[in-house]
Amino acid sequence: MTASNKEWLNFIEDIEVQVDSAFREIDRIVDENQIKVLRSFQKYQISDFHFQGSTGYGYDDLGRDKLEEVYADIFGGEAALVRPHFASGTHTIAAALFGNLRPGDQLLYITGSPYDTLSQVIGTEQDGTGSLRDLGIDYDEVELKEEQLDWDEIEKKILPETKVIGIQKSRGYAWRPSFRNDEIAEMVSRLKAIRPDLIIFVDNCYGEFAELTEPCDVGADLVAGSLIKNPGGGLAPSGGYIVGKKEFVERAAYRWTAPGIGAEIGAMFDTTRTLFQGLFLAPHFVGQAMKGTVLAAAAFEKLGFESRPRWNEVRSDIIQAIRFSEANHLIDFVQSIQQASPIDSHVLPEPGEMPGYEHEVIMAAGTFIQGGSLELSADAPIREPYTAYMQGGLTYSHIRYAILQSLHRMKAHGLL
Ligand SMILES: *Cc1c(COP(=O)(O)O)cnc(C)c1O
Repeated sequence: MTASNKEWLNFIEDIEVQVDSAFREIDRIVDENQIKVLRSFQKYQISDFHFQGSTGYGYDDLGRDKLEEVYADIFGGEAALVRPHFASGTHTIAAALFGNLRPGDQLLYITGSPYDTLSQVIGTEQDGTGSLRDLGIDYDEVELKEEQLDWDEIEKKILPETKVIGIQKSRGYAWRPSFRNDEIAEMVSRLKAIRPDLIIFVDNCYGEFAELTEPCDVGADLVAGSLIKNPGGGLAPSGGYIVGKKEFVERAAYRWTAPGIGAEIGAMFDTTRTLFQGLFLAPHFVGQAMKGTVLAAAAFEKLGFESRPRWNEVRSDIIQAIRFSEANHLIDFVQSIQQASPIDSHVLPEPGEMPGYEHEVIMAAGTFIQGGSLELSADAPIREPYTAYMQGGLTYSHIRYAILQSLHRMKAHGLL
């Protein structure tokens, strides 16, 4: 090992001592969520014959029904739709929204602009794509004010036609805190006091198992997320989940397949065991990933970079934002994450166009599941201020190694 490697290793070991209290808090959350998942498997008497899978229409797939019961239980909803056919988080969220909004209704996001890929789901009037606006569904949003909800504006913008309120829990690609579920609880009670019939929708992507509760536990009506992220446990080959009140989940299912058919069909092929096993492992992997982000935050803070959340802040998603001063630093950091990956470590990512994103994006995803972001990955839209968003990592040791490598590489390039 070279001298400078040894130097960085000492640096990281010192940081690990510094962040020990944060690690122990994460362990506590993992322990409780692991028991929550385990108890649910036991309660629904999951057996190996449930892993059979199905073909064709997939009628009467017992394992699939059990999987959805377990998801509803763990995520605090009345019902769940958990399918490998959801091609991404955006697809899943779109099914939840289109299923529950009708022409003339309004969708109001109260946590600022939603995640980049949703902008084309919302669309513009007569864009010809079948976006929400193209179908005559109105959309409005309330910007955050000093990173908090702007309740004066929210009250003004809730109209008689407002039907769904959108809340994005995670920071996504925004320099803001993720919302904790106790904050979502407060949003729900204030919104229900204004209009009890509002459907409160939460985009839970990246938030699963980061806390002891989930959004439905605190009153959300409809929640969606991606199995290519946290609840897939790094194993799910694809998919998404929707949980919440039965009637809203059912409407999403009608949109997903067809009215009248809904969740009754949908062959699972051979994915059922993997989806169960991924769910069982998810709390642990989320914990590994969160420890890695704490380490990254503390390391880069010590080197003078800005990080969000800071290492000792309470976390409610698995994303770590790190802000650099130039595009070069950003690209170097993302590339070093790729170089430290088990898959495609020899491929150097470059900024490029991605479907659904408005700016060029650079992504490191040397993952077993393509783009799987409970696995160690980093993304950065190439726009000022230059912020990299890293997330995931199935083993803490891997994340630790990747951080070491990135420090080493940035130093070698004269960036530290
Ligand atoms: C990832 C993500 C999405 C979209 O999921 P894709 O799988 O990228 O389509 C939506 N919202 C948030 C907050 C996300 O993190």
